[in-house]
Amino acid sequence: MSKADEMVEEFDIPIWDKNKQLELGICFECGKRKAKFQCDYITGKTFDLYGKGVIKESTCDKYLCEKCTNKLNKRDYCKEHFEELKKR
Ligand SMILES: [Zn+2]
Ligand SMILES: [Zn+2]
Repeated sequence: MSKADEMVEEFDIPIWDKNKQLELGICFECGKRKAKFQCDYITGKTFDLYGKGVIKESTCDKYLCEKCTNKLNKRDYCKEHFEELKKR
């Protein structure tokens, strides 16, 4: 049986360069591990972008790895937005 799914790619030194993180798909929270999730927190709504009456929800989209994501209702949230949701 393959163990590939359980393998976590991890860097010794965190990458804090946003462009590099985006390029390599690195978690924004720790800067060390490959991001597997994106924050689903809805930051706003944009109207009529894709035609009249069409509403597009924009989400935080912060890259998150398995260890930094916060699961809630089958969605993933960054630390900041998870705290935000808990306050409600
Ligand atoms: Zn992380
Ligand atoms: Zn977020």
